[in-house]
Amino acid sequence: MEADIVIVGSGFFGLTIAERCANELGLKVLIVEKRSHIGGNAYSEADPKTGIEVHKYGAHLFHTSNERVWEYVNRFTSFTPYVHKVYTNHRGVVYSMPINLGTINQFFGAAYGPEEARALIQEQAGELSGKDPENLNDKGISLIGRPLYEAFIKEYTGKQWQTDPKELPASIISRLPVRYNYDNRYFNDTYEGLPTEGYTAWINKMVEHPNIEILTDTDFFDESQPYSKAALVGKKPVIYTGPLDKYFDYSQGALSWRTIDFETEYPECGDYQGTSVMNYADAEIPFTRIIEPRHFHPERDYPTDKTIIMKEYSRFAEANDEPYYPINSDKDREALLEYRRLAEQEDGVLFGGRLGTYQYLDMHMAIGSALTAFDNKVAPHFRDGKPLNSAK
Ligand code: FAD
Ligand code: UDP
Repeated sequence: MEADIVIVGSGFFGLTIAERCANELGLKVLIVEKRSHIGGNAYSEADPKTGIEVHKYGAHLFHTSNERVWEYVNRFTSFTPYVHKVYTNHRGVVYSMPINLGTINQFFGAAYGPEEARALIQEQAGELSGKDPENLNDKGISLIGRPLYEAFIKEYTGKQWQTDPKELPASIISRLPVRYNYDNRYFNDTYEGLPTEGYTAWINKMVEHPNIEILTDTDFFDESQPYSKAALVGKKPVIYTGPLDKYFDYSQGALSWRTIDFETEYPECGDYQGTSVMNYADAEIPFTRIIEPRHFHPERDYPTDKTIIMKEYSRFAEANDEPYYPINSDKDREALLEYRRLAEQEDGVLFGGRLGTYQYLDMHMAIGSALTAFDNKVAPHFRDGKPLNSAK
């Protein structure tokens, strides 16, 4: 097929652009994917021993408040009514997470109402109360007071980031709500659920179009294959969703990431922990959490005598590890500015997605930003000959 556009990477950003280009503009699209499957990090498959759907690159929960994204994703899949809830084990006692009135009352062995609890936390936040601190340590204390911070956040964050919370940005903790009622939903979004037939069925549906061709096991930087960077850039419009630093041969240094090691076990029972995610707040337990994927789909007929669990260990990513969470240190931010400048000058190439822009993006954000990039850049390029990349 003689493609009109080449998309590097088949995560949600690349898939959304591919689908729009084929359906909306009638273009011929070629997707080049390094892995042996499409879907990027949202990919899931049935575990061969139990048949339970496992998210290969870490648990993925879909949630959004963006009406346009919700309408768009419902074209390809329906969603189950799954509502995500998380619990955390601190010194052998299980509490609900994010911190809510239930957690507060259980922790202090009390029966506070919302106002009493607010007053107590404010007092415990001490000198940091009401301020808008810059780092995670101060932000955590100002939000929930020192005792709750030390029990549920400090050591967990230490395990997750292996960095002193005083050196981490406050924004990491701002993702976690604190509630003075008994609402223990993990997300605040209007819509949430899991794809009824699984992520892979959803992903396959997005590219079910005769104009979309996919080449898996194909690395954009491998010059021995015909769709490499060297062969394509400047000759064909390219949407690039691989790592930004790699595209420029690490000329400004490598951007730093965290990765996760998953340790899979098969406990001999039908239900190991009674819920999908159990966090472990204390430093003595080396993993951050245990995922039991069967609980993502209580409506399915999974075996009742076996289950699968994954323990998650977080660490700095080395060169060959999967990059999962951008670290965003000062050094990273400086390099990122340079890489963005280079990207803007790269004629005919549009950088997108979490790797291509070095940002943590939830699925709905990756899809939302792809829809916007399609409207503002890709469609004007093909309809009116406007440049594809952002500088001009
Ligand atoms: P990706 O999915 O990373 O896709 C990029 C693709 O490019 C990959 O398939 C990669 O193989 C390919 N590629 C890279 N380099 C090359 C190359 N040289 N040649 C060819 N192909 C290449 N989001 C949520 O909404 N809810 C969650 O619960 C959630 N949990 C997450 C848990 C973890 C551990 C992680 C890491 C992410 C989680 N996310 C979650 C975020 C979600 O994974 C992203 O939003 C989504 O992956 C973004 O899609 P993308 O297309 O930007 O990138
Ligand atoms: N966090 C924590 N204790 C918990 C859960 C989260 O301290 O039990 C902190 C931790 O710093 C983490 C951040 O809150 O990095 C954001 O949590 P989230 O669940 O969004 O992290 P993710 O699942 O994306 O790793």
